[in-house]
Amino acid sequence: MLSGHGCFRAYLHKFKHEDSPECLTCRGVDEDAEHVFFMCPRFSTPRSTWETALEGRILPENLVEAMLSSEAAWEATSSFAVEVLKDLRREERERKKKSN
Ligand SMILES: [Zn+2]
Repeated sequence: MLSGHGCFRAYLHKFKHEDSPECLTCRGVDEDAEHVFFMCPRFSTPRSTWETALEGRILPENLVEAMLSSEAAWEATSSFAVEVLKDLRREERERKKKSN
């Protein structure tokens, strides 16, 4: 989840699949794993569901501990990650369609 691979614009940009590493919502900020999972306002709704399930603000420093604290925390984390990644992939497909 935090490896930075996949569909983050910062990663796609490095390999020339995107013209810019920037988050399209937060101009001037690279769209990498940390930005998407912890900061980007476009995922604030699923993020707050996730943080409610884990009973607190999730940061890169406490993520592993938090997600391993219970089965429910693990489930909430994986469904949040799946939802975010699915969205990113859909957005990427839509951008490709437009540019072709
Ligand atoms: Zn953003």
